[in-house]
Amino acid sequence: AAGRPAPYLEGLNPAQREAVEALDGPVLMLAGAGTGKTRALTARIAHLLHTGTARPNEILAVTFTNKAAREMKERVSQLLGQTVEGMPWLGTFHAICVKLLRRHAELVGLKPNFTILDTDDQVRLLKQLILAANIDEKRWPARQLAAIIDNWKNRAWTPDKVPAGEANAFNRQGIALYAQYQERLRELNAVDFGDLLLHVLAIFQGHDDILEQYRRWFRYILVDEYQDTNIAQYLWLRLLAGGHRNICCVGDDDQSIYGWRGAEVGNILRFEKDFPGARVIRLEQNYRSTPHILATASKLIAANAGRLGKTLWTDRAEGEKVRLIGHWDGEEEARWIGDEIEAMQKGTRGMRAFGLDEIAILVRASHQMRAFEDRFLTIGLPYRVIGGPRFYERREIRDAMAYFRLAVSPDDDLAFERIANTPKRGIGDKAMQVIQRTAREAGVPLLEGARRAAESGALTGKAKGEMLRLAAAFARWHALALDPKASHIELAEQILDESGYTEMWQNDKTPEAPGRLENLKELVKALEEFENLQGFLEHVALIMDNDTEAEGAKVSIMTLHAAKGLEFPAVFLPGWEDGLFPSQRSMDENGLKGLEEERRLAYVGITRAEELCTISFAANRRVYGQWQSALPSRFIDELPEEHVEVLTPPGLYGGGYGAAATAHGSGLEARAARADVYNSPGWRRLQERSAERGMSQPRAARHQVIDLEAVSAFTEGDRVFHDKFGYGVVCAIEGDKLEIAFDKAGRKKVVASFVVAADA
Ligand code: ATP
Ligand code: MG
Repeated sequence: AAGRPAPYLEGLNPAQREAVEALDGPVLMLAGAGTGKTRALTARIAHLLHTGTARPNEILAVTFTNKAAREMKERVSQLLGQTVEGMPWLGTFHAICVKLLRRHAELVGLKPNFTILDTDDQVRLLKQLILAANIDEKRWPARQLAAIIDNWKNRAWTPDKVPAGEANAFNRQGIALYAQYQERLRELNAVDFGDLLLHVLAIFQGHDDILEQYRRWFRYILVDEYQDTNIAQYLWLRLLAGGHRNICCVGDDDQSIYGWRGAEVGNILRFEKDFPGARVIRLEQNYRSTPHILATASKLIAANAGRLGKTLWTDRAEGEKVRLIGHWDGEEEARWIGDEIEAMQKGTRGMRAFGLDEIAILVRASHQMRAFEDRFLTIGLPYRVIGGPRFYERREIRDAMAYFRLAVSPDDDLAFERIANTPKRGIGDKAMQVIQRTAREAGVPLLEGARRAAESGALTGKAKGEMLRLAAAFARWHALALDPKASHIELAEQILDESGYTEMWQNDKTPEAPGRLENLKELVKALEEFENLQGFLEHVALIMDNDTEAEGAKVSIMTLHAAKGLEFPAVFLPGWEDGLFPSQRSMDENGLKGLEEERRLAYVGITRAEELCTISFAANRRVYGQWQSALPSRFIDELPEEHVEVLTPPGLYGGGYGAAATAHGSGLEARAARADVYNSPGWRRLQERSAERGMSQPRAARHQVIDLEAVSAFTEGDRVFHDKFGYGVVCAIEGDKLEIAFDKAGRKKVVASFVVAADA
């Protein structure tokens, strides 16, 4: 029908329309962030369906996440004005391959009801094989082998195809163990994630008739985020598209951020070679971000070598400059962002009001989330964590908390069950039954039951010795937990060390392990905000209680990796410090390549913002109670000054608090400015003081503030502010303790160093 264009074409620019309408033959849409690649890809599906060119089940569309798949389905329905029935082949590589493999399992020696192993199962299985091969599992941990095998699978190397160059892997036995592992999986009728794709690839490669059938079936292939496909995925796509060549891939080389997981940005560069005559469509208009945001992102990514390079423009209104702010420490950064978000809801600094749904905080490392979660819970700001559990729901945090709980309350049976065999102490199902029976018969808690069962000989072997040791350790820890003179921070560290829990993760060679160790450090850091372990446990219990998902608008917190493809009117990018972002690990392990991947991640972060982008860093972070100063990220030096506005933090330490106040390094020249601060007499005094009192420097800084200005002057009736309990009035003073009537929390005794004079 002539006349109005189909609804899904409305508003698309000519290049996008070309990408939508060029249905036959290979198409590569290669374009920067926010140029409408995903939107064009979605319209392309609508076009295929609307014109009757393909039926829903004839379209194979690959997205990077399940969420993106759901959204794409919804968008297509919207564009067509009707619910699309089916689209069974719109999903992630994993989701699509599970379906294919169930149909043809027997061709690779599996039954259609095969199980999919998670990482833990995978590691358990590998461990058995390692032990059977008489390899010392301590020196050659199963998790390391799991990572090696994953890596090989990402490259589509089956055991027979692993190149000779890898022969030394894993004590020279990696390849053999890999072969045994695949054999075991088959016997168990199981696959791991990597197998999903590899098995289907093997089926296609080994059975021309089946490949032909799917080539006819999947008449149109579409792939989003193509820059992050790995080799196995690439080979799989190339095979499927090999017949009709109706494949449309979209991506951005500047947003390739999964190199560490085997993604090959080279796939995108090779597309034209693999599919000669491919139509390459470049989109240059960015519809997402304001000029300041776009210019800032473009300048930053220009520092990477070996890019395809592209120009982006936008006709959006000028808007706000990118904002940059430096803070004293990570807690203050969280406090400031919380306050700023509250102000933004009403409209602040001459800007429009933002809804909570319009705001996101994107962090480099998941352990950064803790400070925000704690702060937001304290001030009652609704938030959600996307793409992973909330901090206190993480496995390592729950384990550690269980240790703390059991140290404080030896009768916490749930805590005992959680940690009895973590790390491994020879407590399997049988031993646990023995412990439970002993405890029940004697009417004692499980921990005590374990001790008795070990003593009586009901437990034997490894379990016996381990339970005696564990019970003795908990007796010691319990005494320390009750001792008001003992430091609860040291106790927490001691528990994690002596129990072998920290070591368990240190020996763990999976990619997640370092992150888990960082989370544990972060947990200990959180303890500093409390006066004892009990107080902390209560706080977390309240948090978890609060956890019932309230309806309504919420701030989103997620990692930069999880933010790919998404957009938000206002974005906060905290933690821009060298070592954290760019991450030290990725620079150490991958040198310049690692640094460039970090820079692409920064580019992804900035380009998520539509109207307002706020970058921040802290001059100091506490790690394990240790004061660590950090330099602002080198990426900050790479930002274009003319597009960036430096904000001055009002901060707790602002306004005449001596050294502490000037230590607010902020601004592009922060690096230089802070060097002066570190050399200043005030700073040295602060360091001496913190050493004297054996306390971390931020706390010492607060002490100093109090010493210099108000402490001696705290008198009954003073209005004060406490980190956790908020505002209140001093009603009694005893040494370094103050009794305070808090506005919200009621009357409490607190240590003076947790308190500052309220401004008014
Ligand atoms: P990324 O690289 O971050 O994944 P992208 O290229 O996929 O970005 P989209 O998410 O498709 O970009 O589009 C970015 C924003 O611009 C979306 O809000 C989209 O609706 C809007 N947009 C895309 N094309 C147009 C257009 N022709 N007119 C108006 N808005 C558009
Ligand atoms: Mg996209």
